[in-house]
Amino acid sequence: MLPEAVAAMTEELSLTGNASSLHTSGRRARRVVEEARERVAAALGAGPSDVIFTAGGTEADNLAVKGLFWARRAQDRRRVRIIASPVEHHAVLDALDWLAEHEGAVVDWLPVDAVGRIDVDALHAALARDPESVALVTVMWANNEVGTVQPVAEVVAAAHEHGVPVHSDAVQAVGQVAVEFGPSGLDCMTVSGHKLGGPVGAGALLARRGLDLVPVLHGGSQERGVRSGTLDVAALRAFGVAAEIAVRDRAEVAATVGALRDELVRLITAAVPDVVLRGDPDPAGRLPFNAHVTIPGCEGDSLLYLLDARGVECSTGSACQAGVPQPSHVLLAMGIPEAVARGALRFSLGRTSTRADVEAVGTAIGPAVERARRAGVGAFATEAVRS
Ligand code: PLP
Repeated sequence: MLPEAVAAMTEELSLTGNASSLHTSGRRARRVVEEARERVAAALGAGPSDVIFTAGGTEADNLAVKGLFWARRAQDRRRVRIIASPVEHHAVLDALDWLAEHEGAVVDWLPVDAVGRIDVDALHAALARDPESVALVTVMWANNEVGTVQPVAEVVAAAHEHGVPVHSDAVQAVGQVAVEFGPSGLDCMTVSGHKLGGPVGAGALLARRGLDLVPVLHGGSQERGVRSGTLDVAALRAFGVAAEIAVRDRAEVAATVGALRDELVRLITAAVPDVVLRGDPDPAGRLPFNAHVTIPGCEGDSLLYLLDARGVECSTGSACQAGVPQPSHVLLAMGIPEAVARGALRFSLGRTSTRADVEAVGTAIGPAVERARRAGVGAFATEAVRS
């Protein structure tokens, strides 16, 4: 967390007040929440009344996808189709699967290219095929694994031609690339506090006023009646502070961290020449804090532990099902064969990353890959024979 956000949250934690209470402490807490709302809105090019606070990105994604689906279907029973990218975060992906399984939703998955960017022509074609049946379109602003930025403006233009609302998960984009809710034309957009220097467990769905959303949570009718629950004043205050700073400093931090990321990729490539950089190689098309590679002949999970033992913490993007690591759905959607996708590693940098950090990865990765390859030789040989 940003030190300013820690300070704001720490101070607030020792103060009393439920923002829905009418007494003096309650009114004070309400003022804090409304200030946070104004800060988040101003940072993201939105109006304060667009901001619906939630307990993070997962909740905002669920509210967007389920809330919009239910509201649109209630207006017209024919609207059961959802057009979505297959590279969404699980918070969207699994909400869509749930709607398909339990609520009769039919999901049209858009094809993505080799860098993970959706095919806008396919979106036009899917919309033109019976537009009356489309409840919503959901395409993330930028991908959390490979960092590819999606053509959000084109998505909005295409969907709005048919009067279809659009949601975008901008959790990874805010603080890394320019994100402005109002000018984007989006109907709703997800943001999360802990990706921009704020606390875990605070986030928001920005939803333009008048957008009909059926609540997922029922209770005290806070937040325009669509997100019940006592507001976490301390976390929201810190979220507001962090959002303001993350956006204020974005261009400078993105340039510095982006240069470090490029150096990281250079060092990894020097140590492991057959490494493949995934996502858009053009810096304009990818998040500056992200480096994603696949390393042939290695299990990403083995590499992760070997690097961890050398003080380097990264992730693979693979999910674990019944104790067996499954390759990332993002890489598979990009057309990468399963055996290659297993060798995935994602490095995330941030505003506190240093040249020494990047050099430490450059030193650690060669020996780790060598060891993972030696350990994996048997397993890979068996797999090659099988396929
Ligand atoms: N969406 C994206 C793209 C993410 O990267 C994440 C978290 O990593 C989420 C949603 C979930 O947000 P939260 O952790 O605040 O629930």
